Amino acid sequence: MSLIAVTEVRKRFGDNEVLKGIDLDIAAGEVVAIIGKSGSGKSTLLRCINGLELIDGGSISVAGAQLLPQETQLKALRLKVGMIFQQFNLFPHLTAGRNVMLSQTVVKKKSKQEAEAMARRQLERVGLAHKFDAYPDELSGGQQQRVAIARALAMEPMALLCDEVTSALDPELVAEVLAVVRELAAEGMTLVMVTHEMSFARDVCNRVVFMHEGRVHEIGPPREVFAAPKTAELRQFLGLN
Ligand code: ADP
Ligand code: MG
Repeated sequence: MSLIAVTEVRKRFGDNEVLKGIDLDIAAGEVVAIIGKSGSGKSTLLRCINGLELIDGGSISVAGAQLLPQETQLKALRLKVGMIFQQFNLFPHLTAGRNVMLSQTVVKKKSKQEAEAMARRQLERVGLAHKFDAYPDELSGGQQQRVAIARALAMEPMALLCDEVTSALDPELVAEVLAVVRELAAEGMTLVMVTHEMSFARDVCNRVVFMHEGRVHEIGPPREVFAAPKTAELRQFLGLN
């Protein structure tokens, strides 16, 4: 059974239909890259999967539970699926540790002790155990993004959605964040990542989804999608003609 099942999903903003019937099944433990031009609907798809956007048609289910456009269910879904963004969105007035603890105490109602123990474990997992008491402005962009990853992991999600998580970073900081993502993939975390890092997608992902104008235009294992694109649109996107 798929962990995430996206079936004929449609999403519009006013007159602009951004997702035009998306079908995508993702198995537990799968690592899926989503690629495509700016404006093709990649972020909107992730936001729909995470329940940050209501869908206009079709259905999405995570671990067998269907997403219906009701606020309480959206909240439940957000607990199951973590999301990490291009901008790290850490609270500047809270330490790294406090940032990781916050949703656990506020949303999951954990005790401070439990939340702190979990925060220390997850910061250690991203290589930042020693930065528990550092404030975001004392951390590099790569470190801040790793704190954001630790914060998502602390919620014990069934899957993690990553939307261009290295795009805001200076080039020399990209590798440390990708290394953390690679480690999560190796541990069996289900990952759906919008990325421009083609070599990373080729190395780490089980499947690549090429989105074009609100549709899944091509999908397959990286060796097929990158080495033998079937459509002119994908060839052009990859710079092959
Ligand atoms: P991508 O991530 O592939 O660049 P997006 O999903 O961000 O694409 O955007 C797809 C289209 O949806 C774009 O035309 C964008 O302007 C539009 N869009 C995205 N979010 C909103 C929004 N909240 N309100 C109106 N239009 C939006
Ligand atoms: Mg986007």
